[in-house]
Amino acid sequence: MIPAIMPTYGRAEMTFEKGEGSWLIDRDGSRYLDFGAGIAVTALGHAHPELVKVVQDQAASLWHTSNLYNIPSQQALAEKLVEETFADTCFFTNSGAEAMECALKTARKYWSAKGQPERVNIITFTGSFHGRTIATISAAASEKLTDGFGPLLPGIINLAAGDHDALRAAMDETVAAVVIEPVQGEGGIIPLPDACLKGLRDLCDETGALMICDEIQCGMGRTGKLFAHEWAGVTPDIMAVAKGIGNGFPLGACLATEDAASGMTAGSHGSTYGGNPLACAVGAAVVDRIAEPAFLDGVNRKAGLMRQKLEGLVAAHPDIFELVRGSGLMIGIKCKVPNIDMVNAGYAEHILTIPGGDNVIRVLPALNISDDEIADGVARLDRAASALEAAL
Ligand SMILES: *Cc1c(COP(=O)(O)O)cnc(C)c1O
Repeated sequence: MIPAIMPTYGRAEMTFEKGEGSWLIDRDGSRYLDFGAGIAVTALGHAHPELVKVVQDQAASLWHTSNLYNIPSQQALAEKLVEETFADTCFFTNSGAEAMECALKTARKYWSAKGQPERVNIITFTGSFHGRTIATISAAASEKLTDGFGPLLPGIINLAAGDHDALRAAMDETVAAVVIEPVQGEGGIIPLPDACLKGLRDLCDETGALMICDEIQCGMGRTGKLFAHEWAGVTPDIMAVAKGIGNGFPLGACLATEDAASGMTAGSHGSTYGGNPLACAVGAAVVDRIAEPAFLDGVNRKAGLMRQKLEGLVAAHPDIFELVRGSGLMIGIKCKVPNIDMVNAGYAEHILTIPGGDNVIRVLPALNISDDEIADGVARLDRAASALEAAL
């Protein structure tokens, strides 16, 4: 019999009832150290007191009005994002996939408004992940995501990541936009070298194609800059944001320059819930906190500590681990055993990590995790790896 919850997930047998910073507490009161943060979502930790207060205050005054009226917290959040980024304008959504959907629509509409409606093709790369709608699975184009879902979105050109010649050949006057994750997340924490992002920017400038960054996982301070593309010193034309921006309250955003958004006029796009007062109140508080230079300095320092300890972990368990890679507190540990075995061994030591592509386990802790918690978590992974070794 089909379960009441559609069985699209294989779930671990754990039920959490409470969160506190970097800890999750299950029904029996057992504490688990959270190195996954709900897949890079709870960037400021669970039950952050300031954010709890923001939600409570907003919940007591107004939940929802629709976008037919002005929403002050949405306006405040948009102004903060415009101030902190390359963007001139923002559209708010409830999820990452919807933010990507808006990015793709914005790019096609741009060319239509410029009198080139035939310029619709979107270049994407293998190993990427952009969400689970038909458009976004079409963009990522992996069989695992698209199998059985029928005709996909036309106009996607999915190229092998790193094949510069294929990219150059494909960049013709039919290309509306190129979509890139500066650090691939689901694909296995694979950072794009700065030079490649710069090269892509140059190619877009030469051909007119818009550059769309999917920073849904790697953005919002995760790599130690507010957005990962900043490391390369270039800016996209359009960017999708979600995950960390709501700290667990569903919120996403599509950011764009004035020029890139020039087709998005009244009536062209919409969302009932997107940008609702509750979500935007939280988002504004999250962006305030994460955009602080001192906060980002802290992320970079903690990332150095985490990286050093994880390098030690990998060196200590050469039969279990192959290497560490990533950027900031977005880290992948490539395993020699099946990654899920390592994730499960971690559960036994009460440490939560997340499996990813290319047989990695992902380490995506809260960005305000303490030094002691970093040391504690790596010690737990060390014990978990020893247990796996004993069973080899
Ligand atoms: C999670 C993710 C998405 C999809 O976000 P949802 O909120 O699950 O729709 C898209 N792109 C990237 C890079 C992601 O990590």
